[in-house]
Amino acid sequence: MVAQVIDGKAFAAKVRAQVADQVAKLKEENGITPGLAVVLVGEDPASQVYVRSKGKMTVEVGMNSYEHKLDAETSEEDLLALIDKLNNDPSVHGILVQLPLPKHLNEDLVINSIDPAKDVDGFHISNVGLLGTGQKSMVPCTPLGCLMMLRDHHGSLSGMDAVVIGRSNIVGKPMAQLLLGDSCTVTIAHSRTKDLPDVVRRADIVVAAVGRPEMVPGDWIKEGATVIDVGINRIERDGKNKLVGDVDYASAAERAGAITPVPGGVGPMTIACLLANTLTACCRANSLPEPEGLTA
Ligand code: NDP
Repeated sequence: MVAQVIDGKAFAAKVRAQVADQVAKLKEENGITPGLAVVLVGEDPASQVYVRSKGKMTVEVGMNSYEHKLDAETSEEDLLALIDKLNNDPSVHGILVQLPLPKHLNEDLVINSIDPAKDVDGFHISNVGLLGTGQKSMVPCTPLGCLMMLRDHHGSLSGMDAVVIGRSNIVGKPMAQLLLGDSCTVTIAHSRTKDLPDVVRRADIVVAAVGRPEMVPGDWIKEGATVIDVGINRIERDGKNKLVGDVDYASAAERAGAITPVPGGVGPMTIACLLANTLTACCRANSLPEPEGLTA
C-alpha cells in the first residue's frame, strides 16, 4: 500500500481562507476586527521567526496584530502588568506569550495570568480542565490542527483505536483528550511504555509527538493506518541540514493508508489554528455564533 499524503500546507491555506472570510464578515456585519497580541520576551532566534510569521499571517487574514517585544531581563512584575493590560483591552481577543520564557520568569504563573477567554494557546489551567471534562474551551493549536486533519480525512473517528506517542502538556495529553472526545479508544504511550512497537501496531491512528528523529519505523505501522507526525527534528544528512519527523516517512508511507509529511504536515496547521482560535475567542467575546468547523 502506498499512503495518501495528507497535505497540511494546502489544508492550512484552506483554514486560513475560511478564517479570512469570517473576519471580513465580522467587519462588515458587526464592525468588529479580531485582534491577536503576541508577547515575546528575549531574543531566542527560533521564537523571533515564529513571532514574525504569526504576525504576518494574522494581518493576511484581516486581523489586527499587536506585537510586544520585551527585553530578556524584563521582570515578572512588568510582564504580568502587560498581560493585565491586554486582558482588559477590548480590541485584543487573543493573547499568546511565546514560550520558552527566560529562566527567571515563572511560566506557569505567567500563562495562568492570561484571561482564559483570550488564551488562544489553550495552556491556561482552566482551559486544560475544561478540555479534560469535555466542555467548551480554548484548545491547544497543534493538537487541534491534527484533529482537523483526521476529521477531514476520515469523517467520523468513532470507535477507532488511536495511539498518541508522547504525553506533554502542549501536544500529547490534549491530543489524547481530543481523540477521546471524538470517541476513539485512546492509548497514551511515553518513554516508559513497554513493547511500544506492539502498542503502535494495534492503532488505526498513530500520532507521534516525541521529538526523536525518525524513531517510529514503518514496520510498527498497521497496514492502512493513518499517521500524524508532529515531530520537528533538525538533523544533518549527507552534509545538509534537514527537517524530519518522529516517523521514518519512507518506510511508514509503504504501510500507512495516509500520512502527514515533515515539513508540510502538522507545522502549517498550528499557525492556522492559532488564527482560528483568535476568531473563535472574538466571536465568544461578542456573543456571536462560533465559526463552523474551526473548533474541536
Ligand atoms: P516533549 O519533549 O515535551 O515530550 C516528548 C514526549 O515524548 C514525552 O512524553 C516523552 O516521554 C516521550 N518520549 C521520549 N522518548 C520516548 C521514547 N523513546 N519512546 C516513547 N516516548 C518517548 O515534546 P513536545 O510534546 O513538546 O514535542 C514533541 C515533538 O513535537 C517535538 O519534535 C516538537 O518539536 C514537535 N512539535 C511540533 C509542533 C508543530 O507545530 N508541528 C508544535 C509542538 C511540538 P516521558 O514523558 O516519559 O519523558
